Amino acid sequence: MPLPTDYAPLSPDLAASLAALLGDDAISHDPARNAAHAGDWSEAPHVQPPIVLFPRTPGQVAGTLRLCHEHGQPIAVQGGLTGLTGGATPQAGEIVLSLSRLNAIEDFDTVGGTVLVQAGVALEVLQQHVETEGWAFPLDLGARGSCQVGGNAATNAGGNRVIRYGTMRNLVLGLEVALPDGRLLDLLGRVTKNTTGVDLKHLFIGAEGTLGIITRLTLKLSPRATATTVALCALPSFQAATRLVRELRRALPGLSAFELMWQDFMTASCEVSQLRPPFGDPAPVYALVETQGVDDAADRQQLEQTLGQALEHDIVSDVIVAQSLDDNHSLWAYRESVGELLGRLKPFAAFDVAIPVARMGDFVQQVGARLAERYPEPRHLFFGHLGDDNLHLLTGPYPDAADLHAMEAAVYATVGDYGGSISGEHGVGVVKKPFLHHSRSADELTIMRQLKAVFDPRGILNPGRILDGAPEPAR
Ligand SMILES: Cc1cc2nc3c(=O)[nH]c(=O)nc-3n(C[C@H](O)[C@H](O)[C@H](O)COP(=O)(O)OP(=O)(O)OC[C@H]3O[C@@H](n4cnc5c(N)ncnc54)[C@H](O)[C@@H]3O)c2cc1C
Repeated sequence: MPLPTDYAPLSPDLAASLAALLGDDAISHDPARNAAHAGDWSEAPHVQPPIVLFPRTPGQVAGTLRLCHEHGQPIAVQGGLTGLTGGATPQAGEIVLSLSRLNAIEDFDTVGGTVLVQAGVALEVLQQHVETEGWAFPLDLGARGSCQVGGNAATNAGGNRVIRYGTMRNLVLGLEVALPDGRLLDLLGRVTKNTTGVDLKHLFIGAEGTLGIITRLTLKLSPRATATTVALCALPSFQAATRLVRELRRALPGLSAFELMWQDFMTASCEVSQLRPPFGDPAPVYALVETQGVDDAADRQQLEQTLGQALEHDIVSDVIVAQSLDDNHSLWAYRESVGELLGRLKPFAAFDVAIPVARMGDFVQQVGARLAERYPEPRHLFFGHLGDDNLHLLTGPYPDAADLHAMEAAVYATVGDYGGSISGEHGVGVVKKPFLHHSRSADELTIMRQLKAVFDPRGILNPGRILDGAPEPAR
């Protein structure tokens, strides 16, 4: 893990101003401590930052940006560092600003079901906090223990329950954002309806920290489900999965997850997590189905009845319906092995594409066959959130970086051919930047560059993420 080669120490003036603003204990020069801030979960090369800043208040974040803007000092913004595209990974010459100390849950409206939180609150901490009062924050993903709600908003995270609750964008009522010039923009509206001009908060959701740093969020909660039913289905084909999800959406208003796993994924998941294969015979595709409601017995009966009909019509070839909370966890474990698989398949590519559902089966077949032929050594594991067109492919290891890049280019070109998106929920960062043109037109890219110039004219904030080059002033 190299130190940046072209790193010039901070100017004494900037260093003194930062120390006066934040206090010495909020500025780490300690190589051992800073090593933990060298990169996210992606394969973007790690770079150990010389300095990591730990502001404690939104005002300190804004003040830090103002100073860095004045001195032209580039900054990498870090949440929980679970990103898969290298957005939070520092680059040479950058200092790191970590949101980890902005971790207070400031207000919880237990009547209206909203919460005001600082950006560095871990997703799982928030989930557990609101459950005590009968509410739920429904965003959920495998990295819940480490990822932060600010990072979730910055990447517009999706996860397991988008089919029912939408992505992070649907759960954010308001934001507070520190802008590169030091202004603290209060967009913390708490009302659901608000048609008073352009809704600026949406510019920052999914912008991956390139336009401003999210410091506080007002989030929308849902009443906590008191009954969760889970089933694992073996399916004869991908087409059967598309029929099943349609049937379940029609019959089960509480459907909260429909996670698809292809056979190779299931095999690898069992290996890495030491799980017993769920069924006697392997199936081409598996679907993990979850409903959330308030009546355990009635919900399970409805799920069993609907899946029973699917069995009769050969849409499903076998099924396990969980009978207890422990069973629920055991069935989710097949899908949740992704974290271990990411560790095992390094160096990997973790694709997160969106493909129109009608064409997803063909896409998997075509890409899977090409990869197996061209790269017989690495594993190629397909899984995804079928209800929202989102397909993941985890493939690795690729010891040769040139192979990895060539393989990525070929897969993303195919995504373009299928009219898909190169990123469904993980964002662009640096890893997917070379392939953005497959999903965005030249005009869209120009407008994105112009927006960057409006918010960050000196290009100090997460430079080189999503887009290359200097911000482009509007013509
Ligand atoms: C095992 C595993 C499973 C995952 N599953 C899913 C999944 O199902 N769905 C999904 O969408 N993602 C998933 N991810 C990816 C990742 O967890 C999400 O992208 C998450 O939202 C990132 O949050 P973070 O706090 O870790 O952000 P980081 O990785 O720290 O940062 C991500 C980006 O956001 C920026 N950023 C962070 N905080 C802020 C802020 N406060 N203001 C402005 N910019 C900021 C960073 O600069 C960077 O560009 C998974 C990752 C892992 C490791």
